[in-house]
Amino acid sequence: MTDHISRFVSDDGFALSYVRCEATAELVGHQQHKLSGATLEFATKGMIASLLMGTRLKGRGMLSLNVQCDLGRIRDFRCDAMGMGYVRALIRTVDDGDALIGNGNLTVMKQIEGSDQPFQSTVPINHDRFIHACNAYLRSSEQVQALMCYDITINENTVERANGFYLERLPAADKHPDCHLSNVYDELYESKQDYVRIDDKGNDEEVIGELFGKGELKKLRQYDVQFHCPCNKQRYADTLRAFGKDQLKELVNEKGVVPTICDFCLSEYEIPLDDLI
Ligand SMILES: [Zn+2]
Repeated sequence: MTDHISRFVSDDGFALSYVRCEATAELVGHQQHKLSGATLEFATKGMIASLLMGTRLKGRGMLSLNVQCDLGRIRDFRCDAMGMGYVRALIRTVDDGDALIGNGNLTVMKQIEGSDQPFQSTVPINHDRFIHACNAYLRSSEQVQALMCYDITINENTVERANGFYLERLPAADKHPDCHLSNVYDELYESKQDYVRIDDKGNDEEVIGELFGKGELKKLRQYDVQFHCPCNKQRYADTLRAFGKDQLKELVNEKGVVPTICDFCLSEYEIPLDDLI
């Protein structure tokens, strides 16, 4: 099945986004960034979380999740979810024992087109509890009644399954306090559970019906998830033009070009020094 996001609503005030992204997670995590096993699982959780949270942006823009830690194998991870299901990630790993991450911070940044100031908020993260930290962020920083759960299977270099959902209780749900979805939500919320077994064999309506009751949520729309990095040579040239002449001369190589590499998609661009000064 093609990687995609589906969005659902219920008559009693719930909104749900469901994502499947195994091919994209493997492309970005393994083929681009050479991750495997636990680090690939961590990056997959990050992609699921940013794609799901990106569906709730109020306007066109980008949602970024950034994890920074001082210990462990993953020191810096960032995932950007843009517009309609586009995603990219960067990850810096070090060879540092068995621990995946130490104590660190998860920063959520939201940039909406047309607004000057990006929104930014930070919560603590430890171990590999990525989705758990995102749920803590939703509760404390956004103060929305929302939670995310995931179900991922990684086999070394392969992402066999990558599913997740975001469930939000909207203000309209107050009129239906005892509805089925309210009870399901309360159960997940109170247990602070972030893993849920998702049987993804059927179509999305069947998958969601299995989890939340048949016909409870109605599908609104579906769109593809795919890797996309908006970097290009011109952007790098524009950035480098802000550097001083002396700095540029330090960066230039014997061919007379400044070599650059995109940390997200690892594309390499060579900018001639003559174009910069
Ligand atoms: Zn790029």
